[in-house]
Parts: sequence; C-alpha cells; structure tokens
Amino acid sequence: MTATQQNIVIVGASIAGHGLANELLATLPKSHRILLIDALGFAFWPIASLRAAVAPGWEEKVTVPLTNEHVFPAGSPHQVIAPNKVVELRENSIILEHPFEGSTEVPFYKCVIATGSAQPSPMRPSGSWTEQEYIGALKKNQEDLKKAKKIVIVGGGTVGVEFAGEARALLPNTSITIVHTDTSLLSPTPLASEKTTQEASSWTSPPTNPKLSTALEKVANKQKLELIFSDRVNIPQEGSVAPTSADWDGSFGLQSGEKTLTLASGKKIKADYVFLSVGNKPNSSIVQKTDPSAITSGLVAVDPYLRVVSKNDNSPLGKNYYAIGDVSSAPGAKTAWNAGLSAKAAAVNLVNEIQGKSLVRYDPGTFSGLFVPVGPADGAGSLTIPYLGTWTVGGGMVKSAKGKALFVDKGFAGLFKGSKKVAIKV
Ligand SMILES: Cc1cc2nc3c(=O)[nH]c(=O)nc-3n(C[C@H](O)[C@H](O)[C@H](O)COP(=O)(O)OP(=O)(O)OC[C@H]3O[C@@H](n4cnc5c(N)ncnc54)[C@H](O)[C@@H]3O)c2cc1C
Repeated sequence: MTATQQNIVIVGASIAGHGLANELLATLPKSHRILLIDALGFAFWPIASLRAAVAPGWEEKVTVPLTNEHVFPAGSPHQVIAPNKVVELRENSIILEHPFEGSTEVPFYKCVIATGSAQPSPMRPSGSWTEQEYIGALKKNQEDLKKAKKIVIVGGGTVGVEFAGEARALLPNTSITIVHTDTSLLSPTPLASEKTTQEASSWTSPPTNPKLSTALEKVANKQKLELIFSDRVNIPQEGSVAPTSADWDGSFGLQSGEKTLTLASGKKIKADYVFLSVGNKPNSSIVQKTDPSAITSGLVAVDPYLRVVSKNDNSPLGKNYYAIGDVSSAPGAKTAWNAGLSAKAAAVNLVNEIQGKSLVRYDPGTFSGLFVPVGPADGAGSLTIPYLGTWTVGGGMVKSAKGKALFVDKGFAGLFKGSKKVAIKV
C-alpha cells in the first residue's frame, strides 16, 4: 500500500464480494486498494453443497482456500483478509476480530457489505469452521445417508427438492418423503403478506412459476419421491424432546433409530434421517447491531444505487456503505446470478464516486432462470427472456446447463484470478 492509498473494504468474499473484487481489479484507480474480508479461511460454493453432502468425491470440489495467491494477481496491492470476522461497523472504519497490519481498526473510503445469508451445514459451513472441518462434515453426511432407510425432507423448496434428487441418485431403493407447506413443490402460491403489505417482517422468495412446480412434481413422481403438500412438520423446540424418545427431537440428519414426526394435520410419519431445508436467513446482524433503522424485512436497506440507507438521519452507515448480494434489499430473487449483477453495478458506482461521476441505478433486468436439478441427470427449469416470455425447460437441458457440473468448473473456479491457478474437474 502507498501512503496515500485508500481502502475499499468488502465484507464477505463469496459470490457477491469476490465478484465485486474481480470487477474492481480492472477498473479501480491506483489511488485505492481492495481489502476482501471473510470470516472463513476458505471460499465455498453453495450451489454444489448438496451434492457434496451426498456424493463421495464432491466434497473436494466445493472449497478453495481464500489466499492472496488464489484471489489477486501477483504484485497487486489488494489483500485478502481471511479468516477474520468484521465485528463492528463505524462511519469511516470497520473493526476486525483479529488485527490486520497491526490494528483491528481498518479505515476505508467505502465499505461494501456482502455478508450473504445463513443456512445450517451441510448447505453452508458454520461461521467458525476450517476448510477441513467443513469437508469432514460433508463426508460424515455422505456416510450417514448410506445408513438411512426412511428419509424425510422438511421443506419442498429448491434446496429440499435438489437434496431429494441427490439422495435418490445414490439410494435407488430408500424411502424419501418431502413434506411441504405449499400446494406443490417450490412456492407457486403468493403468500398473504406479499399480497397485502409492502414490508414483511422477514424476507420471503417471490412466487415461482406454477408450470415449473408441475414439471418438478412429474420428475419427483418418476423418481418415486413421496410428496405431502399443504402440511408442515412440527419441529420441536431444542431440548423439549429427549434424544432417547420414540418421537423426533428436531435434530438434523441420521437419527439414533426410527423416529416419529408429527405433522400439523395430525398425521404421523416415520424417519431415520431428517433433512431440514426451511429457508435462508439474511446475515445482516452486524448492520442490525449498528443501526436497526438500516434493516428492512431482515435485509440491509439500499437505495436504487445500492448504497445503504437508513431511516435514522444520523446513521453511521448513511454515507459510505453499500450492500450487495443475498443480504441486500436490492430487487430480485436471492440467487448467485443476482449477486453477480449487484457486484457489477456496485463496482461501477464505486469507481464513479471516486471519479466524481454520476451514479447508475441498479436494474437486474427481466432475464431470469431457475434450473432445479433432481439428481445429476434430471430436473426441470424455468427461463424468463425479455420480450419472449417465460419458458419451462426439461431435464435434458437442466442436466447439460447445470445438473452435471453445478458450475464448479467455470462459475466457482472461474472466480479465482490469482497467480495460483484454481482448476476443478468434474
Ligand atoms: C444449497 C444452496 C443451493 C443454491 N443453489 C443455487 C443455484 O442453483 N443457483 C443460484 O443462482 N443460487 C443458488 N443458491 C443461492 C446462492 O448460493 C446465493 O444467492 C449466493 O451464495 C449469494 O452470495 P453472497 O456472496 O451474497 O452471500 P454468501 O454466499 O452467503 O456469502 C457470504 C459470505 O460472507 C461471509 N461473512 C458473513 N458475515 C461476515 C462477517 N461478519 N465478517 C466477515 N465475513 C462474513 C461468509 O463467511 C460468506 O463467505 C443456493 C444456495 C444454497 C444454500
């Protein structure tokens, strides 16, 4: 760093944060350097985490150590700071858990929050794990799953459906049941709160294309996945049911024997392996702690330029912060595609601010795709193309576009622009 160089701090080095660093590599003036911070010492690829939790060998394809050599070209002034957690946000600086360049306080010109969302392992690693601990958890799940005779999946969104497909590919004769609150797979029915209010207490996915739900149901029936709709599994509070009980105690994964799960309808079903896929939670707690007025529906509130906004005029976050990816209230579904689009848009606006130019409004556009693999060789998808409308696509296209490689080779490995090349083979 030169004496006058200013920092662009990016908190979170996953699809949004790492994508932003890549965009800035080409455009950031020499007066500034990037500090890319992550609580984890490794990058992970959530899109393939379900396969990695089921199929032996895949646990080696979903993580890469977060180092300068992997992320930044040789001789660049930019720095990866990982593992290191941002614990506090101030108007012109952030506070780290561990010192960097001799201090836990790091000053910045602008700070971008890209802290994403949280889901339990195996979908995502726990915040304090090492790479080896995450790989170990994935391997353990692979072993546990092989012992299962009756699998119950709680939640029939994309994660539940994808997990069912991965499990079926490995276990052709095991009973697999998905229990889902909606009338079909994914979320074809708009929620009442979306119809009546602009601001819900927490963020929920927009409704999905009903034709995609129907297509996925057909694939599920072909794969002999049992589907229970318009019902929900009662999840007991932690500690309220003894692990020795014949009733399920709410725990994830392989059970100590066959357990009884009770549904809201009163129906009872048996399982010796329970997979919980009941949604994403935005990782917005550091913003919430600094200024609750900068949170909307659980997300970090941003203006049309992706700058953090607050209802509090004196907010320390009101001038120098941006938010992108899953944690941001920017329009669009919480997907890797949109995380990448918001990273591109934030890069343009950060450079425009440095150069004193006008900011550009963020527009995710109308192109969108939702491809849901049900195992490596089948699935269904929905594609919305401007002026052409929305199309449902079949298993062959989902397999070749996504299901076979889950983008680990190009999407994940392709993020790393450093001197040490990253190659992931499928
Ligand atoms: C199982 C699964 C399957 C998915 N499949 C698809 C798919 O097929 N297609 C698709 O488009 N999307 C998919 N998604 C969604 C996609 O993965 C997310 O939209 C994407 O990861 C969002 O990226 P992000 O960078 O905003 O956040 P995240 O990927 O959540 O990353 C946030 C990062 O911030 C770090 N962090 C958090 N707090 C701090 C802190 N205080 N200090 C430092 N670092 C911090 C975390 O360690 C993490 O690395 C899937 C998600 C899951 C879980």
